Amino acid sequence: MAPPVAPQPLSVVVLGGGTVGAQVVRMLTEGADDLAARVGARLVVTGVGVRDAGRERPGIPAGLLTDDLPALLDTDPDIVVELMGGIEPARELVLRALKGGASVVTANKALIATEGAALHAAAAEAGVDLSYEAAVAGAIPLLRPLRESLAGDRIRRVLGIVNGTTNYILTQMDATGASFDAALADAQALGYAEADPTADVDGHDAAAKAAILASLAFHTRVTLDDVAVQGIRTVSAEDVAAAREMGFDIKLLAVAELIEEPAGAGVSVRVHPTLVPRTHPLAGVRDAFNAVFVEAEAAGQVMFYGRGAGGRPTASAVLGDVVASARNRVTGSSEPGESSYAELPVLPIGSATTAYFVHLRVLDQPGVLAAVAGVFAEHGASIRSMTQKGEGEAAELLILTHPGREADLAATVEQLRRLGPVDAILGVMRVIGDGR
Ligand code: NAP
Repeated sequence: MAPPVAPQPLSVVVLGGGTVGAQVVRMLTEGADDLAARVGARLVVTGVGVRDAGRERPGIPAGLLTDDLPALLDTDPDIVVELMGGIEPARELVLRALKGGASVVTANKALIATEGAALHAAAAEAGVDLSYEAAVAGAIPLLRPLRESLAGDRIRRVLGIVNGTTNYILTQMDATGASFDAALADAQALGYAEADPTADVDGHDAAAKAAILASLAFHTRVTLDDVAVQGIRTVSAEDVAAAREMGFDIKLLAVAELIEEPAGAGVSVRVHPTLVPRTHPLAGVRDAFNAVFVEAEAAGQVMFYGRGAGGRPTASAVLGDVVASARNRVTGSSEPGESSYAELPVLPIGSATTAYFVHLRVLDQPGVLAAVAGVFAEHGASIRSMTQKGEGEAAELLILTHPGREADLAATVEQLRRLGPVDAILGVMRVIGDGR
């Protein structure tokens, strides 16, 4: 028998009736009876805020639509679901909702990665929930496990593929030998990439997610501006071919890690194209899927995998937060707030430990290999393998290093640029190992 349902329904206002918003309204409506049994009160959608309230939207009753979003907040909703995207007016509306005593659920990574501290403070002051499971890796339950299930462990590193668009493009480049531009056009034609792909291909979307993951993993405030970002525009078909030849896939990885330095611990948060061994589980993550590896001291490696985007998958994560917030309202409790007690410094990317792949075109002269190796040695960068491809004017060197300090490897590459026998640096990319 289903548990008794409290007589007082909870009102839910949805700001945004687009790809995700429409699915959220549909799931709240179609699943109303089950949700009521799970929550202990009925969830009633009382309004959906959009820009164009005159446009018909499948799944959203026309009577719920309005373009007056502040007026929706004046109705004193119990839960506000923000699915508009962007910073303004989302920030202002979310803040107003929290101050008015509503719990807020959002999927807006940019908002949380830039304004998270102020929003968390407003939620704490009002004693309401602010949750955003869908903001990172879509449907994949990731933030709640980080915040709750792993709360007793010490997380050392979070590493993952958190942008489906770039993963689709890189998968296509690998599978077909296509250029970046051709693979991007294909992704746009199939709806995997937006007409303006900047946020995805330049790494900003992944960077916002990396900031959120780092904040949760290390109990430290990390914002979008703290993240070192490099996107995938510069990844060439030649890079992909060279990587494949050496047994690697290229993935855009978001990395957040704890770095122990003599002066104390800090965190490094970065997004960059990375060579991933084909034997690594992240190499098997193809097309628009997402996957995140968490490495914790006691738990070891834990991997999360699934759909990182799409209306229905993302709505699933939003509904999870809505149910959690609704239960809290029924029982009079609230989610744990922001945990930023550790206040670790965010270190420059040069402090990170990583391995490099360096792809050079060199003049075919005696002593070239020794000269190149000498530059690595000068900076304390240790070579793991050096392979020569071709001869004469087309001679290329494919060099893999052992892990070393990013700053030393970067200095090595700078010096190689000025080395006489080096005709061109064809590519430089970071590398992760089999076990890392
Ligand atoms: P979308 O399809 O573009 O929908 C945005 C909705 O917000 C539209 O209904 C739009 O109204 C409304 N809106 C935007 N600005 C507004 C304004 N100033 N005033 C009133 N209404 C406004 O976006 P989406 O793909 O659903 O994404 C929503 C959020 O979820 C974003 O934060 C996004 O980053 C996040 N997210 C999306 C996905 C995904 O797969 N789509 C995955 C994870 C997270 P109109 O329809 O009238 O224009």
